[in-house]
Amino acid sequence: MLNTVRVAVTGALGRMGQEVVKMVVRDPELTLAAAIDAKHVGEDIGEILGLGTLGVKIQDQLEIALLESKAKVMVDFTTPHVVKRNMEVAIASGVHPVVGTTGLSHDELSELDKLCRESGISALVAPNFAIGAVLMMKFSEMAAKYMPHVEIIELHHDQKLDAPSGTAIKTAELIRKVRNELKQGQPNEKELIEGSRGGYMDGFRIHSVRLPGLVAHQEVIFGSLGQTLTIRHDSIHREGFMPGVNLAIKKVMELHGLVYGLENIMD
Ligand code: NAP
Repeated sequence: MLNTVRVAVTGALGRMGQEVVKMVVRDPELTLAAAIDAKHVGEDIGEILGLGTLGVKIQDQLEIALLESKAKVMVDFTTPHVVKRNMEVAIASGVHPVVGTTGLSHDELSELDKLCRESGISALVAPNFAIGAVLMMKFSEMAAKYMPHVEIIELHHDQKLDAPSGTAIKTAELIRKVRNELKQGQPNEKELIEGSRGGYMDGFRIHSVRLPGLVAHQEVIFGSLGQTLTIRHDSIHREGFMPGVNLAIKKVMELHGLVYGLENIMD
């Protein structure tokens, strides 16, 4: 019999969590071991998602769910308020976290990395699991070396809890590594409406748009004399994140400590 990876999904009834459950159920190399969410506790996750009875009931106690299910990997798409605790519980339970929830600070990531290394449990945190978004970040890093005047516009659905997006912050960090230090724009500029120039990070601006109908989108605009370059990525459906999540589930156990970013496990 095929030795499958047992996967627990936290936030299983969320927009992303539902896609993860479907992806895990469809992959013969993976087994859905547990589904954790605050709603529909005790009900079969398959019946709720229209997948038929799966024999996996929704639980709201993560420690117990991980212990009973013998999960090897926990995939977390929950909220910025609970993700850190969920990761701590998983690491303490010997379960490898694969995390898409955004909003973890640098300090929190370092703390979790330390915890991973102390307990010998590896983790992968990625602010964006879409392969196209990883390429957008890479191309932006390449362009910033030659066109250092840049602004980022990220656009998401109106229920997103954090701003700017984790992808925008990660893009800014990559750009910072290669961009020559410079002060952009007009030094005497005056904002007539507070916030209209967006958030300031590392010498350039990040703008966050929140509207119903959007999923996850980002434009990185570079400007120089007589030309502009726009690098844009659009996530049109949440299914687009699943090949990246699938890859992470299969690779996370081979990693060391906490690895940040899908690009680190892509060939
Ligand atoms: P969502 O629809 O609000 O889903 C979150 C789910 O988690 C909800 O069902 C929520 O239940 C549940 N939840 C809350 N606290 C929980 C807990 N303690 N234990 C278990 N479940 C809990 O949000 P989403 O759109 O799926 O996004 C989730 C996260 O993923 C966000 O941080 C988002 O930015 C991020 N994201 C990342 C990527 C990526 O590629 N990395 C892509 C898209 C989204 P309630 O509704 O009852 O609170």
